[in-house]
Amino acid sequence: MKILVINAGSSSLKYQLMDPDTREVFAKGLCERIGIDGRLTHKVPAKDAKYEFDIPMPTHAEAIQAVLDALLSAEHGVIKSASEIDAVGHRVVHGGEKFASSVRITGDVMAALEECIPLAPLHNPANITGIQACEKVMPGVPMVGVFDTAFHQTMPAKSYIYALPYEFYENDKVRRYGFHGTSHRYVSARAAAMLGKPIEELKIITCHLGNGSSVAAVDGGRSVDTSMGFTPLAGVPMGTRSGDLDAGILEYLMGKHGYDMKEMMNILNKKSGVLGISGVSSDFRDIENAANDGNQRAALALETFQYSVKKLVGAYAAAMGGVDAIVFTAGVGENDAVTRMNIASGLEFMGVKMDAEANNVRGKETVISAADSKVKVLLIPTDEELMIAQDTAAIVKG
Ligand code: AMP
Repeated sequence: MKILVINAGSSSLKYQLMDPDTREVFAKGLCERIGIDGRLTHKVPAKDAKYEFDIPMPTHAEAIQAVLDALLSAEHGVIKSASEIDAVGHRVVHGGEKFASSVRITGDVMAALEECIPLAPLHNPANITGIQACEKVMPGVPMVGVFDTAFHQTMPAKSYIYALPYEFYENDKVRRYGFHGTSHRYVSARAAAMLGKPIEELKIITCHLGNGSSVAAVDGGRSVDTSMGFTPLAGVPMGTRSGDLDAGILEYLMGKHGYDMKEMMNILNKKSGVLGISGVSSDFRDIENAANDGNQRAALALETFQYSVKKLVGAYAAAMGGVDAIVFTAGVGENDAVTRMNIASGLEFMGVKMDAEANNVRGKETVISAADSKVKVLLIPTDEELMIAQDTAAIVKG
């Protein structure tokens, strides 16, 4: 089976054509600068080849057409006919409370996605545009929506409710939704496979640490709590996002500096996090280099990040009444041994014992805790595209 996975952003679109059973990726790439001019980067892993093209992309429809043309091209294509694409799986950021799992896209689903726009005004319109563009360019090909929020729909009310007047939940849908659900679902399932135990018997804390970061408590295969909230701004400090903060700070800073809400939100989303503390960069590699050169604020940014992840690990172990495994994934989690070590060290009291040598590794599935560690610590590279392709195949096959 060949599944085309699409992750549409407002001006970009990532794609992968893959076989969800063999996991072979036939081609993958990225359309950028949609609506500006248009650039396609197309990779064919089997040939270890990368192609770059300037192609006008006034809308997502031209971007999808460019992807299809690249997949079908005589020189750098990987399929002979568009009919070889069995289905398309779309990453959708926000499914609200409507979607607790992936779904076949129908007219009703599209209407429900439109209803979710106010919850994710930056992301959902791009996802919807991506779906509409595929419908236009590949009419009749079955499509599936896979939601970032779906995995966290199993959270109990005590985890998702905010301590606000209850009508804000009832009337305005204000609650914790959580994000990165496809990643937390993938790595928790892989963790169970690595440990050789049914996921139903495991308590797992998954740490998705990248440019955006979130931590989730996965009890028996179900998300029971997570650090991102109503929006992906909440939780631990991120590359440029503040993470949790006292809402009183907004009033204070807006009053003092005369910021309007848009300016304030721009500061919280784009100028805060480890960039804000360090003043150096949002990229953890730059911050680590600066810290190693003696930059105190860079060191503080890293410490603050690690400390807030560590606190969540403790909190989620308490929430679940124990923990069997802690998983690190995403750009920082997969590549940064020092950050992993600093988060997991000092947790010996709860049965976590790291193995420094085993931890000195990047980007591969492996156990990084000591052989006698009661709690297993695992490094698991995430693969959201594979999850999307597998969900899409399963739903299309019925
Ligand atoms: P992601 O959002 O999952 O793509 O992760 C991006 C983040 O991973 C960036 O902040 C990078 O700095 C970080 N990252 C990638 N490789 C490394 C590395 N070797 N050491 C530290 N951070 C890394």
